[in-house]
Parts: sequence; C-alpha cells; structure tokens
Amino acid sequence: MRPTCFRCLRPASFCVCAGVPPARARSRLVLLQHPREAGLAICTARLTHVLVEGSELHRGVRFDGHARVRALAAVPGAALLYPGEGARAAAALADAPPPVLFAVDATWFHAERMLRDNPFLAALPRVAVRSSQASAYGDLRREPGAVHLSTLEAVALALGALERDPGRFEPMREALRRSVALQLACARGPRHNPRHRGGAAERGLGGAGPPAPAGAAAAPEG
Ligand SMILES: [Zn+2]
Repeated sequence: MRPTCFRCLRPASFCVCAGVPPARARSRLVLLQHPREAGLAICTARLTHVLVEGSELHRGVRFDGHARVRALAAVPGAALLYPGEGARAAAALADAPPPVLFAVDATWFHAERMLRDNPFLAALPRVAVRSSQASAYGDLRREPGAVHLSTLEAVALALGALERDPGRFEPMREALRRSVALQLACARGPRHNPRHRGGAAERGLGGAGPPAPAGAAAAPEG
C-alpha cells in the first residue's frame, strides 16, 4: 500500500498540505461536498478543509435531515458562497462577516440540484467573489463560460476579502497550484512514474466529466 497523507488523504507523493498551517477566519467555513467530488484525485474541498482552521466538511446530496448542517444554517447571519442575483460581494461584508459560511463543492449541475433539493440552503443570503485570474484548476477541468473557480479558490478569495487579508489565504492557493502541477506531471508521464497504477490519479483526470467546480464562480458585482 502506498503511504497516504492522513490530512489531505492523498498519496504521500501527491501531498501538498505538509507544512502548510491552517488559516484562521472569523467565519466558520462549512463545505458541503457532493459525493461525486470525493472520488476525484484533486479533491479541493478536502484540501480546503485541512487548510482552513475550524472548517467542517459534510458529504451528501440532501441535508434537510442533517442535524449539524441544519443547526449551522440556522445561525443568524449564516450565508452561502454562491453567485447569483442578490449575492453580495465578500469585500462588502468585511465589517461584519457571516458567522457561518457555506460552500458547495460540486459541478454546477449538481450544485444547482443540491440547492433545489435543500431549500433551507438556497434561502441563505449569498456571498460572491470575483476573480480576475484564470483558475489554477483550468488545465484539469475545462470550465464553460467565463472564469469559474475551484471550491478552494473561491473560498480563499471569499475569506481573504471577508478578513481584508488575502495574503493569509495565499498559501492554500499555492498548495492547489502545486497539486495541479503534480497531477499534470503524472498525467503526462504515466509510464515514467513508477507510482502510477491507474488509481486515484487517473480518476481525477478522466472522471471530471462535464466540469465546473461550483463553490462559486466569477460573480456578479454588488
Ligand atoms: Zn497532505
């Protein structure tokens, strides 16, 4: 068996979390992961979870019967990181950041369905971010339309804006860039990589499907 990093759950040779301390934020980050995302090689929600202090990661499709998620959503001021009509820019909320910030980790298709199936989540006030940079994830998952971000990137931008301290969340973005680089190197030279046995590394590239990590995207200003 290959050694695995107990933190990011990647094979040790693909671990990018070692030595990266979790970043602190006033908002409690709650990641809701569609089960399909969990099997991808680069699971950005998992990496986000280990690199944001006090965050929670819950996996599922329907959360209406999930006591913990329901309780967190009921916290006054809880918000959802998701673009759309009425979404407020994270930077505009820095004086009073949401005590709980939900982020959905799914393709756009699944994220939309998750909101439809969980009206209590869809009803939360929304927070959006916008990025002028292309996603570091772009080479692995082709994004339709404009600039769509991985869950990790969207969270890093949102928390950086809410905390008025983007630099605090730069190490996690850097970890994602390293992870993508490792993955691409593996994909380009499978025969030269003695560790490549067609496991998780391959699933991440081939299994991305019609992509678009949700979490958030280039968002409307406001
Ligand atoms: Zn790790």
